[in-house]
Amino acid sequence: MENQRESRKKRRVILFPLPLQGHINPMLQLAHILYDKGLSITVIHTNFNSPNSSNYPHFHFCSIPDGLLELGASTSDVVALIKHLNVNCVVPFRDCLDKLLSNVEEKESIACLITDAACHFTHAVADSLNLPRIVLRTSGIASFLAFAATSLLHEKGYFPIEDFGSDAPMPEFPLLRVKDIPLIDTHDAENFYQFLISVMSHTKSSSGLIWNSFQELEQDALKTLERDFRIPMFTIGPFHKYFPASSSSLLSQDTSSISWLDKQAPKSILYVSFGSIVAINETEFLEIAWGLAGSGVPFLWVVRPGLVRGYEWLESLPKGFLEKLDGRAHIVKWAPQQEVLAHPATGGFWTHNGWNSTLESICEGIPMICQPCFGDQKVNARYVSHIWRVGLHLENQLERGEIERIIRRVMLEAEGQEMRGRVMHLRKKVDVSLRQGGSSYQSLESLISFLESF
Ligand code: UDP
Repeated sequence: MENQRESRKKRRVILFPLPLQGHINPMLQLAHILYDKGLSITVIHTNFNSPNSSNYPHFHFCSIPDGLLELGASTSDVVALIKHLNVNCVVPFRDCLDKLLSNVEEKESIACLITDAACHFTHAVADSLNLPRIVLRTSGIASFLAFAATSLLHEKGYFPIEDFGSDAPMPEFPLLRVKDIPLIDTHDAENFYQFLISVMSHTKSSSGLIWNSFQELEQDALKTLERDFRIPMFTIGPFHKYFPASSSSLLSQDTSSISWLDKQAPKSILYVSFGSIVAINETEFLEIAWGLAGSGVPFLWVVRPGLVRGYEWLESLPKGFLEKLDGRAHIVKWAPQQEVLAHPATGGFWTHNGWNSTLESICEGIPMICQPCFGDQKVNARYVSHIWRVGLHLENQLERGEIERIIRRVMLEAEGQEMRGRVMHLRKKVDVSLRQGGSSYQSLESLISFLESF
């Protein structure tokens, strides 16, 4: 490793993540992978949701003022947040980059900028400074194609759609149904479509595109994309499998999750988490709670502060709810998710199907209950339940009886065993792709050569 560092120490890459948990994690994992391959790392980040630099002593961090909090931006409307970011960060980002470019140590030169696809403003900035820009897309390839199709449908005047709940095939993307179109709740729908158009065009004109995915998982989608996007593509994922679990968590991870799992029988626990952004109402929360309790299956539940709209944390749970379950349940605010999924006691994952959660589940061979809420989660859920067939989709309104039944199907019945077999098969493919000669391994080698060519 040190030899690789020696030979490559002249090259530095500058990374700029979108400041949301599901985007910060893969960007910092990518930084870690590139660092291990001998590149030097600088991370430019916003003050909003800034990463904990002390966890990464080998990287250089520069923060830029973003003014996002002052504008009232929050994760309850991510489309508005990203819009503000793409406007507010232009000047501070440019100044920061300019400074870095003029201060490069003698022997070290900056190879390129790697930015999240959502930070499309960085394209013009990089161009103005003659710096190549590579894009990291933190979602799956299929959902990216679905976003591209959505933006095309908008241009053709297809929206607003009368029946967003329709089972009819999605025009431009018949693998999905109209109800799977990856829309995002926002106060300003037009802004969402404009955002998609910008992301697509600034990704198409970038110098290259990196995916936290692997070829064997999304082969067909990758082929389609390569036809449309004639830029170098690197499928080097799953990123988090390159090294032991690292922490770029914005919330602190409750390790009691692991000590509790240690006391449970193999494959007996359902892990429940809806990621860092999804919010639900009180009625949904209570249906979930009663459904979990009624299923008879022991569970580890992440109730993030803010998950239930209008409540700090667990106040709306009926008094004595946990006590009545008599040790069959453990609730935490935030868990070390990768370790939870890798734990022998974990047997299923009730997830919102964020891309990181979906990949992390596949990598540990854990079947899923899919409850997508918005955006790419809907596409991921469709792939998990109907294309890879490693999970069941909880589609209807949240209702305790239905929840109990789906939990038993995944955790206790033959159907669940079959899904486990299929997801274990995918897990093996992950291992092969990362091994010497495997697809992700080779793609990473190509990426490193590519970065060194600048
Ligand atoms: N995560 C975690 N602890 C939790 C819940 C989630 O560390 O209790 C991590 C999870 O491992 C994943 C990320 O947060 O890497 C969530 O990303 P994802 O794309 O699944 O969903 P998002 O939060 O973007 O909706």
